Amino acid sequence: MGYGTKCVQSGYVPGDGEPRQLPIIQSTTFKYDTSEHMGRLFDLEEQGYFYSRLQNPTNDIVAAKIATLEGGTAAMLTASGQAATFFAVFNVAGSGDHVISSSAIYGGSYNLFSVTMKRMGIDFTFVSPDATDEELDAAFRPNTKAVFGETIANPSLTVLDIERFAAAAHRHGVPLIIDNTFATPVNCRPFEWGADIVVHSTTKYMDGHGSTVGGAVVDAGQFDWMAHRDKFPGLTTPDESYHGVVYAQKFGKEGAFITKATAQLMRDFGSIQAPQNAFLLNLGLESLHVRVQRHCENAMAVAEHLSHHPKIEKVNYCGLPGDKYHALAEKYLPNGSCGVVSFEVRGGRTAAERFMRELKVAFIETHVADAHTCCLHPASTTHRQMSDDELLAAGVSPGLVRYSCGLEDAEDLIADLDAALGKI
Ligand SMILES: *Cc1c(COP(=O)(O)O)cnc(C)c1O
Repeated sequence: MGYGTKCVQSGYVPGDGEPRQLPIIQSTTFKYDTSEHMGRLFDLEEQGYFYSRLQNPTNDIVAAKIATLEGGTAAMLTASGQAATFFAVFNVAGSGDHVISSSAIYGGSYNLFSVTMKRMGIDFTFVSPDATDEELDAAFRPNTKAVFGETIANPSLTVLDIERFAAAAHRHGVPLIIDNTFATPVNCRPFEWGADIVVHSTTKYMDGHGSTVGGAVVDAGQFDWMAHRDKFPGLTTPDESYHGVVYAQKFGKEGAFITKATAQLMRDFGSIQAPQNAFLLNLGLESLHVRVQRHCENAMAVAEHLSHHPKIEKVNYCGLPGDKYHALAEKYLPNGSCGVVSFEVRGGRTAAERFMRELKVAFIETHVADAHTCCLHPASTTHRQMSDDELLAAGVSPGLVRYSCGLEDAEDLIADLDAALGKI
């Protein structure tokens, strides 16, 4: 099947006389004839549903679609992208462990790692997305349990050399976890380059309409936990809370990671996606291939136009031939990257703020990657506590604007940008 057919048709397949569209199973609980039957579910002896804090049929069907799109063996939906990132890392690392992360990641992930998970006793080392193999190797410790990075980083728009990061992780016997939110599986499938686990903020392109916060964790089913038995006791030794099940033995490489994350983390943290939200996410996924292409065409048109504009200092977009990440984009993102562009307005902070006030089609929002074009001025919003000097050190210049191209007509976006730039 072609990729578009998979977007539309994978996941839910109705039987004879059943609803064409995915049913929303809006039920917290499920009925059984005998306690023995339910007991077998509790012991993970049998597949089935008993409580929607752990699993729900609507969610599982949408997760199966995402697993197909990524080329993975198993997936789960979470209440948000943050929950997905937390689950993916916490499923293999605990107190006393260490994780290596690219420094070019989403601000929320950076905070989760460097503040909240640190308080849980997990140490993080941040490395440049451009780190050499030697620098990567030097970051590993005996207690390192995973490597983390983003295909296209939000907001810095760096492109990760996934194959090289995967090789480094595997040299040291740990999985590579990739946040593939910005590229989506339409433009990049990190498993094909050696990544072991993928996470998504489905809030972005997957939902695509700014309607539902959600996340997903996907397993490639390729990492051999039993071959690294001592590093991952959570997967390779008995879980006493499930009658001594050994996840990697009972569910194999294909199922161990997601089963453990469901059985332990969803059970104890309960960060599940509402079935209603999963339904909306499924609608978004049915048109993902069509929308992502349009987002990328609009971003390319905007990036090209602005790169010649006298009032623009610099444009960051890996689709542009002059971009620092263009070569990596050609390798990992041959069909397009994403709809998000960033650029520096000449005249710094004041000019950027004035310019944004004048935009009529693009709205000022702290969001990206949905049908509506929106923009954000990091220096006066997400990074407002920093001085101009601190901003420069963090790679965010005072005049930087993050601009997320929606699905409108490129001509309208460009006319709007030109009109606003004309006012400064
Ligand atoms: C938004 C985002 C997240 C966090 O997702 P939420 O759904 O907002 O919790 C994680 N990673 C990336 C790349 C994002 O853009």
